[in-house]
Amino acid sequence: MTAIARQLYSVRRGVVEHWPLLTALACWPLLITGRLSLEALARAQLPVLSVVTLLATALGWVTLRELVPRGVTRHPAWAELELGIPLVTAAYVLLAMSGGLRSPLHPLVYALLSFTWIVHRTRAGIAAVLVSACLLEATLAARSGDAVAWRLAAWHTVLLGFFAAGNRLVLGSLTRRLRNDHARRVDDELSRMRQEAKDFRLIASQLPPQSRARRRADEELRMVHAAVENIHEQVFHSLELLRTALGLHSAVLLWCDGTDAAKHGRGLPSLVIKEVASAAELLAETPSLASAGVLASVLAEPKPLRLHALGGRRLPPYYRGPEPVTDLCAVPLLEGHGLRGILCADRIGDRPFGDDEQRVLERAASHLLRVVEHERVFNAVERGKYEQEQFYRASELLNSALTLEDVYQKTFAAVRSIAPYDLAVLTGVRGERQRVLAADATSEGEAEPWQQLSARLLAGGAGLELDDANSLVAMALKNRHYMPPGAELVDPDTVVWTASTRLRGAKSVLVLPLAHGDEVLGTLTLAATRGHVFGEAVREMLRVIGHQVGVSLQNARMYQQMEERATTDGLTGLTNHRAFQERLTQLHALAERTEQKYSIILTDIDHFKSINDTYGHPVGDQVLRKVAAILAGRARKVDIVARYGGEEFVLVLPDTDALGAESFANRLREEVAQTPMASDHGSFSVTISMGIAEYARDGRERHELIERADQALYWCKEHGRNRVHRCSAG
Ligand code: GH3
Ligand code: MG
Ligand code: MG
Repeated sequence: MTAIARQLYSVRRGVVEHWPLLTALACWPLLITGRLSLEALARAQLPVLSVVTLLATALGWVTLRELVPRGVTRHPAWAELELGIPLVTAAYVLLAMSGGLRSPLHPLVYALLSFTWIVHRTRAGIAAVLVSACLLEATLAARSGDAVAWRLAAWHTVLLGFFAAGNRLVLGSLTRRLRNDHARRVDDELSRMRQEAKDFRLIASQLPPQSRARRRADEELRMVHAAVENIHEQVFHSLELLRTALGLHSAVLLWCDGTDAAKHGRGLPSLVIKEVASAAELLAETPSLASAGVLASVLAEPKPLRLHALGGRRLPPYYRGPEPVTDLCAVPLLEGHGLRGILCADRIGDRPFGDDEQRVLERAASHLLRVVEHERVFNAVERGKYEQEQFYRASELLNSALTLEDVYQKTFAAVRSIAPYDLAVLTGVRGERQRVLAADATSEGEAEPWQQLSARLLAGGAGLELDDANSLVAMALKNRHYMPPGAELVDPDTVVWTASTRLRGAKSVLVLPLAHGDEVLGTLTLAATRGHVFGEAVREMLRVIGHQVGVSLQNARMYQQMEERATTDGLTGLTNHRAFQERLTQLHALAERTEQKYSIILTDIDHFKSINDTYGHPVGDQVLRKVAAILAGRARKVDIVARYGGEEFVLVLPDTDALGAESFANRLREEVAQTPMASDHGSFSVTISMGIAEYARDGRERHELIERADQALYWCKEHGRNRVHRCSAG
């Protein structure tokens, strides 16, 4: 019955989801039987009218769905099928209504095929449209029934085939080229911006698309983009101002190429045009200048240069063709002793630059450097702010973690927001041993096998014991420094945890020691299938977060110890009276809700006072410990075993009636009686008495049940001790 219901449900879902496609397919029988004709429509035949309206609605619906995607991800082949088939069906409905195979609207089918070829990306989508067109062509021919119609349909089909092949050749390659062009333009624009950001030293080396969480990388990209635009705008205004004020032909800011050869001791740096304000039209075609020309001397020795009477011959290198430039003044942009660029000003009409003008240009040059510096500082401050925010969030998160499990999960969350890892593994040190505590693996792409690896590291929840002294985790512990130094896994055979759990396919790896003061509490290993994920800046942030995790781990351990101390009895290690009451309250509430029975066994050691008196208090303590161990050792995990007070113990057995509790109690009683107790005067034995009460048979309230169990215990004491008694037994 449920299987049928499930089938019906999936059929209903299928119909609701794919109704446009089903509507289109429903038109086919009408096309085949020839019922879709203009006359039928004119006569307003209800089935024809409704099918045509439904098809028009379906077409509108699928078109709208394509134009306004609703965030529901559908398989592209399905989406295309659901657009293509209603479209081709609608085309043939129109053909059927306007004269069949001889319809003047037939070119519509070819247009539709072209449209499909441009819009569709999957082969299934295109093939479905083509096959549908051929089939519908055949149905129209079958409708007419004469040999001429069949010939016509065959011709149409052949033409459709040719048209499809032509489309594939021409349109296919054209759209591919357009798509590639677009992708390349976006890439070019991005790399241009990166290069500029690098030139202005807004970023350290390159924009780190993977060194931060992806969202952050986008943010940073936008920030740098804004900075670059800002610099250009301000530089352009300054150049325009200079041009107007000094009556210049051109004012040009040239920049030394960031990846220049001079850095590597190979000749002079090359120059790049950064910004221009000019009346000239023949400026160099590309920003990179092939040679420094007359400016070579400024590059060799960064000093202002003034040239006069150029006479259109020794032109500055930023001109492509002849310009009537007569005078040039070039001043270097110096940052410390390093040459960052050259500010060039030139004029026509034999008007040499004076000392005052040179000074103005020098001031302008230092102003331009300040503009760049300002953006750089602004960016650095922004980045610092972001890092601080991350630290703040991470520490807030970690500070709120009380239990160890909480610390593990919050560590993963904090680290994930800084470095997009694929696998994170926490290990903890206890004495000489190091053990895997927790692991978190993504299941994306190449990192998929790491899920199994993480399960193996956790070894069914207990955590693998790590004993390889040469492993990365052991070295990080020993050196108290992250490993490996560059955070890249150069040798794939490197042992990270143990030889049997190799980390295959990792390009970036970082093992951080988690320290608290002088003590190293464990390690955090991060791995990614991509390279350069843990760049220098990220490593620094993670190093600090590693300390924070260390502190949180220590706090959680202390909290755990305190909790243990507060809930366990110091002498026997059993649950203490207070914790027993709490646990019993919980268990009782659950039993009240579920009406499940449970039993309470109150236990008292017989003549314990005389044991103390005969053998001394320490022996008495030893007896208490031994009896406690027997009770705890035989109980199930779900049972509560507690020291009720003095030499009294209490057991609570969930889901157990008084009879079951009685036989269990008797086994315990016999074991205690048979266990020899040691003393200076030889060994002796002790016996216990036990009283049992069952929920809800012997009482609905907790105190009532304990009272009944106590009465049963008293009965045992009255009837010779070393016994078990159910209160319900009377
Ligand atoms: P009964 O068979 O009737 O239970 O006799 P009993 O001697 O056990 O009687 P009672 O319950 O009065 O004796 C309890 C004794 O247990 C009294 C107390 O000195 C001793 N006791 C309570 N707590 C401890 C403990 O932590 N260590 C030791 N060694 N003795 C304890
Ligand atoms: Mg007692
Ligand atoms: Mg006693």
